[in-house]
Amino acid sequence: MSSFTCPCEMSVEIDVPDLIDLDTMSVWLDRISSGDVITGKCGSCGSVIQPEVALRIKWPSKQVDLLVLPELERISVYRGKCKVENPTEIVIGYPELIERIRILRDGLDPQACEIMKLYIYAQAETQVPEAQLVVLYHALHDGHLEFRILGMKAGQTGILRLPLSSYERAQKQKKNLDKRLKELLSGSYRSVRTIGFMEDYQD
Ligand SMILES: [Zn+2]
Repeated sequence: MSSFTCPCEMSVEIDVPDLIDLDTMSVWLDRISSGDVITGKCGSCGSVIQPEVALRIKWPSKQVDLLVLPELERISVYRGKCKVENPTEIVIGYPELIERIRILRDGLDPQACEIMKLYIYAQAETQVPEAQLVVLYHALHDGHLEFRILGMKAGQTGILRLPLSSYERAQKQKKNLDKRLKELLSGSYRSVRTIGFMEDYQD
């Protein structure tokens, strides 16, 4: 159990395992897939608190080993200050964790999904050039991959459905990626979100 402080200042105890093995702790697979990662309820005021703490997640049957860092660490990761040993991969923030687990649960390839997102970002940015967009895989429905686009307008979420044929095209493109993208998608943090950051912050 770990202790967290509710906004009412009471302490709330929440179970945070040191290591979550999704093969043997299947309840966590359901929790994360449904978008509920670490949640506790304050016994005093009844508030639900959802702290974002670092997690280690393994899914041996899928050859997955993730270090999940809080959103606060994003800039440190982009600057290469959080190192992990291969094959451990970094995921930043619970929305990205939930996305990754859903991609794997649906039998999809995370790298191909990132390639699809690259096109979605490019398209969305021509429509709303000033917005800070975040694209996340959401689900597989009726032969379509559904992505959510956050940040289009205040409080609004865009929904984009792309057919499996687009996914298959992205899988084929993996073989012909340019060097920069190939390195990015085989590094310790495999997200095309870093590309916008690099362009914004290049000296
Ligand atoms: Zn409270």
